[in-house]
Amino acid sequence: MYKIAFAFILVLLGIRSYSQNYQTFEAKKGDGIYAVLKQNGFTKSEYFNSFVELNKSKLGKDNTLIIGQVYRLPLKTDTVSVAGKTNVSNIPLADKAPKKVVQEIFGKSYREITIKSRELSGAIYFLESGHGGPDPGAMGNLEGHILCEDEYAYDVTLRLARNLTECGATVYMIIRDANDGIRDEQFLAPDKDEVCYPNLEIPLSQLSRLRQSTAAVNQLHRQNKGKFQRLVVIHVDSRNINENIDVFFYHDKGSVTGQHLANTLKQTFEQKYAEHQPNRGYSGSVSERNLYVMKNSVVPSVFIELGNINHVRDQKRIIIPDNRQAVANWLRDGLIEDYKKSIK
Ligand SMILES: [Zn+2]
Repeated sequence: MYKIAFAFILVLLGIRSYSQNYQTFEAKKGDGIYAVLKQNGFTKSEYFNSFVELNKSKLGKDNTLIIGQVYRLPLKTDTVSVAGKTNVSNIPLADKAPKKVVQEIFGKSYREITIKSRELSGAIYFLESGHGGPDPGAMGNLEGHILCEDEYAYDVTLRLARNLTECGATVYMIIRDANDGIRDEQFLAPDKDEVCYPNLEIPLSQLSRLRQSTAAVNQLHRQNKGKFQRLVVIHVDSRNINENIDVFFYHDKGSVTGQHLANTLKQTFEQKYAEHQPNRGYSGSVSERNLYVMKNSVVPSVFIELGNINHVRDQKRIIIPDNRQAVANWLRDGLIEDYKKSIK
């Protein structure tokens, strides 16, 4: 009986090997196919062709690697045959992770999270809401209430963090508030106790603030070397009271991966608006912009403006808790799409 059970386990492990879990890596500046293959122990020259075949949709001109893009490594022919043994370590870590997690940052009513899928297992997200600490960001006004950009951007970002966690992603909140949690209120009381990951006081000077959060992201990037990573920065814009703007997206100048990411998110918003408010029309846009956080972080990034904090229609998007949740859901769906495209 013991023997039969043991054989059965081996069969299961064997089956796993046919689902072929490729190892992946993220291309960094200066990486080339030959060098990366060599670093990973692929010394035979025929691996070059398997690599190109496996990743052809993601290579640049003359088979160059695109920085920030995630590539699959070929399977080593000699290890596949002893699959039962090697594939034990190929079981994605997330499969062993618990189905329920508790994270206090989401607040009393949202701290318990049930992992609903593994769609994003292996993906790492750095989520950064704009401003915080001594800097409230843009300020608007509605029915005698002051609306602070940092509070609304934070709430949407936190909702997105929870959504991504539910799909098995690893998520880092860069700007953090120990006692706000997700708030189902229209008017979010402003406070100044946000900190920067892991627990640093946020300085008042804009440049020091940006440097601090970017350093946090870049350090976490190093700790997660080789894994799929994205930085998502969320703000609320401040414009003339008459200017109604939609959710729109910036990417860093020259970042192909960032541009793909921004386009994917925008397309998701177009689809969602067409589905839920067919007569509304959506005029969000994607453009490149020279912004400190995107330029100086080594992780492919997108910078999102949720609307104009001074415009009545845009205010509804951020004031009504269900709308904040919808925006976070749409962003999650767009990010899943981006991840699927990237690991294909
Ligand atoms: Zn801002």
